[in-house]
Amino acid sequence: MAENCTHDCSSCGENCSSRTAESLKKPLHEMSSVKKVIAVVSGKGGVGKSMTSALLAIASQNKGYITALMDADITGPSIPRMLGIRKRAMGSDNAILPVVSESGIQVMSMNVLLEKEDDPVVWRGSLISGTVLQFWTDVIWNEVDYMFVDMPPGTGVPLTVFQSLPVDGIIIVTTPQDLVGMIVQKAVNMAEMMNIPILGIVENMSYFTCPDCGRKISVFGESCVDAIALEHGIPVVAKVPIDCKLTQCADCGKLEEWEDNYLAEFFDKIDKNLNKK
Ligand code: ADP
Repeated sequence: MAENCTHDCSSCGENCSSRTAESLKKPLHEMSSVKKVIAVVSGKGGVGKSMTSALLAIASQNKGYITALMDADITGPSIPRMLGIRKRAMGSDNAILPVVSESGIQVMSMNVLLEKEDDPVVWRGSLISGTVLQFWTDVIWNEVDYMFVDMPPGTGVPLTVFQSLPVDGIIIVTTPQDLVGMIVQKAVNMAEMMNIPILGIVENMSYFTCPDCGRKISVFGESCVDAIALEHGIPVVAKVPIDCKLTQCADCGKLEEWEDNYLAEFFDKIDKNLNKK
């Protein structure tokens, strides 16, 4: 064991034999239980990562799973708004209770902790990562089957989450005009470093269906996501169209009322693949 080892691998910089991937994992609150954790990542903001996280959580909840949604996008939280959550989280000295959405999804987000949802969070990276960890360790997650983590773009918070939470898989969100190849390659490299599988790719804003003739128009150019998924051995791909009604539902907090969930089938496949193991 190294001379300066503090016996807490999550904060200690020493490299000794007791430092393993498992020793960096943070424990859940003693009253919490979470079976599977899925992280949703993107290369940049505005591509629909929160929309994807929310639609996946809704698909999971509708399938009968007890579902949680952790909004790890601390400086740009949008999950409560999409699910119409106006309540604030309640807490005691040693725990915080998640806010529960209309359909029963357990949600934790910076926005349910702020006094006013438009208060800005002007924090340095370490404080942001620390808050995300507290969303895991200090929140009482009640018998959760699936937790979806809406990650911010960048690598800081994702690195903390991958090291500290038992993430079962990653879902990548891209759009056709993104540099898809590079973004997927980066995510694949990070996933390999962390030894976490990539479960699927969602190409959001993939096309637009003409309301008059029903033709699918590739607004941002032809998709190459299938070829990229094949190249990297990523098993499941979903294509979500640009849909103005979807934006309206999200903007007025009624996403759970949206009947035509574009990611229901995608979630079914992910669920099947995860439960095969
Ligand atoms: P990110 O989390 O990647 O920053 P969001 O999920 O917040 O992106 O989406 C950005 C904006 O685009 C939001 O206003 C959202 O309602 C809208 N949006 C996302 N996906 C779609 C879609 N497929 N069709 C129409 N609007 C969408």
